[in-house]
Amino acid sequence: MNNKDMKFLLIMGNGGYCKCSNDCNKIATDIHHILPNTKTNKKMFPLFLESPFNKLPINNGCHLTKPLPKKPSYLLCNIYEKYLTELKGS
Ligand SMILES: [Zn+2]
Repeated sequence: MNNKDMKFLLIMGNGGYCKCSNDCNKIATDIHHILPNTKTNKKMFPLFLESPFNKLPINNGCHLTKPLPKKPSYLLCNIYEKYLTELKGS
């Protein structure tokens, strides 16, 4: 699944509305990486980082200004990454 398809499906799968923590009821336009999409995180958690479990449909305005969900701990990210690696290998 390419990024454009995943963005569309995630937005539709969440009813089309922003999932910021403020119940803003705005239309989702962006995808927010809950664990930030940094060079280090890309290297440490390549599967989890780009998985639908780490992506949240959000309105562009909220993406820039509103408080967003807290990122998972590295311990939890390691568990997610290990799980996805095993799943991919099977
Ligand atoms: Zn919002």
